[in-house]
Amino acid sequence: MISFKMLYLKYFPYNPRPFQDELMDRIFMSNIMLCEAPTGSGKSIASLCSFLADKKEEEKIVVLTRTKSQADIYLGEIKKISEKIKKTISAVHLVSKQEICPKLKYSDITYEEFNQLCRVSECEYRDRNDCPYIKLQKKLPRAEVIVASYNYLLYPPLRDYFLDRAETTLENLMVIVDEAHNLLNLDILGRKIKEKTVKLAEKELKERIPLRRIFKGEDSMIDISGWIEPEEIRYLYEMGTEILKEKKISFTFRTACFFLNAYKLRYNENFMIYRQNGEIFLKPIFPSKLIEPLIYCKKLLLMSATLSPIEGYATLYELEKAEVYSMPNLFPKENRRYLVIRSGLNTRLESRDAMLWKKYAKTIEEIYKSTPRITLVFFPSYEILKEVHSFVNFNVFIEPKENKELKTLIEKIKNEKKALLFAVCGGKLSEGVEFTIDGSSIVKTIVIAGLPFPVPNFELELKRELYDRKFGYGRGYFFLHVLPMVNKTLQATGRAIRSANDRAVVVFLDDRLEHYRYFPQEIREELELVEIEKIREKVEEFHKTYA
Ligand code: SF4
Repeated sequence: MISFKMLYLKYFPYNPRPFQDELMDRIFMSNIMLCEAPTGSGKSIASLCSFLADKKEEEKIVVLTRTKSQADIYLGEIKKISEKIKKTISAVHLVSKQEICPKLKYSDITYEEFNQLCRVSECEYRDRNDCPYIKLQKKLPRAEVIVASYNYLLYPPLRDYFLDRAETTLENLMVIVDEAHNLLNLDILGRKIKEKTVKLAEKELKERIPLRRIFKGEDSMIDISGWIEPEEIRYLYEMGTEILKEKKISFTFRTACFFLNAYKLRYNENFMIYRQNGEIFLKPIFPSKLIEPLIYCKKLLLMSATLSPIEGYATLYELEKAEVYSMPNLFPKENRRYLVIRSGLNTRLESRDAMLWKKYAKTIEEIYKSTPRITLVFFPSYEILKEVHSFVNFNVFIEPKENKELKTLIEKIKNEKKALLFAVCGGKLSEGVEFTIDGSSIVKTIVIAGLPFPVPNFELELKRELYDRKFGYGRGYFFLHVLPMVNKTLQATGRAIRSANDRAVVVFLDDRLEHYRYFPQEIREELELVEIEKIREKVEEFHKTYA
């Protein structure tokens, strides 16, 4: 392969690690690319350097991230590149109004309520041209790199607004979608409303809202036009704004916004409005339809540490023509071990009973006894975690439900010589949390106590039918059940080995062996089948070797 090294190495502020050259070459050469690269492989810096090497003056690089910590990584790398080229790259982190507003300090209201409050409030910052958000927006047209949340380019009503503010077009954008596995879970772009919100709105208005009956009845699709007229939404919107001005929170306004969005998107084929368990949801159906407009960008790069099987994502995102690249894991093979039980445990719905939870508890205890430092156990759901916990005889730390308790828990765990920690796949501890001291991971064993398949519900059934129709019979199950299961599992297993010096064993306590073929090559090749009675011995053996 011809190398374009000279072009991108000009920006690269470190010594390239093995495979980084190849990654940068591939990114440089492709227009649309799906890339799977392990944690610690330096994919953020590689993508930025390749993009900068290919960027023309009028073009902008947009990095879409889900979390602030991911955004900070990109902003930090841009600083390093600026130092290397001795020229400041103008970068803007497009945070929300709510995050930087010095005037309105309300955290328990929605984004829309906040926006409306800003619009209708007297504001001295705006009057003296000193509003940080307006200043931020003014920087967009001149920015070379913009780091923003997914919504700005993926949520249809926001995309045009963003392009307008940045004074650009899709053709002039080079887009990096960071942690692109998140597009599997379209909840981040969806909305919902509970009956309680409408009840509180009625209380505010001191009148009945006829629409409240929408929450009653079986789970089903909803035709919004049969429930509410535009005049009624306008009435709720105006009344809600008045209440908002006075009380700084308004359930009437919240209700109006949900139905306004639903009304706007009612003919959009990629959005569905449905009732499930007494709540109304507005959700996208296919991720590919959200990604579709971005294929007109000059470059589009979707990256993640967990995009396995990558061909599955290429089909689901309808990017079959994209360049696909899986970067190998460069951490020493001898530092890890993957074990799976041959038989005896799984969390299939029909297997679930007290006997099963007891057996899980006993096996986890055995693994814990032979593990130094931290044993981190991931369950498919909080309910299963609680069931198994009731049979465990050791002290167990449990993943907190509130974010604010998370930091305290991690600090506590770091001070423990040995600890057993229970968490949920896809929960707070499975993504973005570091269990490291001086850069080394203290998690020595990860247990996957049941493959985290989603629990069937109305939404999944509905989508499965639509996916089967689009991709072929049986593919709906693969995209909606298998891919998310693999992804959640990989996010969880990725918690232990964060650097070349970390060592850990991963134990899969689920004997549905047919599903492991969808895991990355590294796991498929290294996975060891073990009898359940031998698990403790195997874990002990691994840890003793490196004691
Ligand atoms: S205009 Fe005023 S209220 Fe609105 S975001 Fe700016 S500082 Fe806050």
